[in-house]
Amino acid sequence: MTEYKIEINLSSSRKQKPSFDSLEFGKNFTDHMFIVDYTRGIGWHDPRIVPYQPLTLDPACMVFHYGQTVFEGLKAYLTQEEEVLLFRPEKNMERLNRSNDRLCIPQIDEDLALSALKQLINVDREWIPNAPGTSLYIRPFVIATEPYLGVAPSGRYKFIIILSPVGAYYKEGINPVKIAVERQYVRAAIGGTGNAKTAGNYAGSLKAQEVAEKAGYSQVLWLDSKENHYIEEVGSMNIFFKINGEVVTPALNGSILEGVTRDSIIQLLKHWNVPVTERKISIDEIYQAQKDGILEEVFGTGTAAVISPVGEFFWQNEKLVVNGGKTGELSKKLYDTLTGIQLGTVPDPFGWTV
Ligand code: PMP
Repeated sequence: MTEYKIEINLSSSRKQKPSFDSLEFGKNFTDHMFIVDYTRGIGWHDPRIVPYQPLTLDPACMVFHYGQTVFEGLKAYLTQEEEVLLFRPEKNMERLNRSNDRLCIPQIDEDLALSALKQLINVDREWIPNAPGTSLYIRPFVIATEPYLGVAPSGRYKFIIILSPVGAYYKEGINPVKIAVERQYVRAAIGGTGNAKTAGNYAGSLKAQEVAEKAGYSQVLWLDSKENHYIEEVGSMNIFFKINGEVVTPALNGSILEGVTRDSIIQLLKHWNVPVTERKISIDEIYQAQKDGILEEVFGTGTAAVISPVGEFFWQNEKLVVNGGKTGELSKKLYDTLTGIQLGTVPDPFGWTV
């Protein structure tokens, strides 16, 4: 890989680190960040690692008005041998560029982004927590910075990477969540931006999440926008069902985000010879499978929680319990294997960690 020349300006003062035993998700940030600028006619320029600091931006910057922005989320882990492991980071950079394409943001050199990421982590290495279940969450993002009030692609951008030490998603081990099937609001439509990781998708999901939480559910099960019938995702995770021994997950259709965890789970299942199919799944099919007693397990997948079992779902005034509300055997095995690979305690036959 090309070694990119990245200017490094180290911080003269270091922050007090939080206790790594009681980290909250996304609340603490390390001492440094990476920035590279884009100017139309020049391209991406001035890659640099600088002390973590607020940004000074013109209030007319296009990101504030038209939401031209994309982001990624991945993690770095510290092994027992104090080695830093990244999990499939190239997949995140590829997805970042697919999101960029959808949002009319110029492509970023993926090798530069990966090299920047590695150098930044190296600079802030002492921030990688080592308590069980902890990791360093990585947030690369792009914002449109041209000061201009007009709906058009910006002529200037900043690509930034920040780092945040995070605790175990589930403090008492993996616990099933209760979810509500959403009928009024939709997350994304075919032809829209659902398969891009862009801020508007998340802003638009807050209302349904708020209503679900008030009713005692922690996540929303999103249905398709056209027929309000086919399952898409759960909260900001992909979703899997185990029905009568077969694992099924909604096929990528343009409105579902292509999760890195989703892809890893599919590959793991195939490796274990567990039947796994990507196809359309209707809410009626899942309802019927639960009634017939063949809905064995349901789980969400994503970088933050890795595997999030679903113990109950609410659909048309009925509470439907899955696997007695407990974590299923396959969900647990997938969680243990994937987190083991990520931490370097389980062999990685796929070459996923770098
Ligand atoms: N769907 C949505 C909407 C998401 O925001 C995420 C988190 N990136 C996922 C699915 C899961 O993707 P990944 O496994 O790459 O974290």
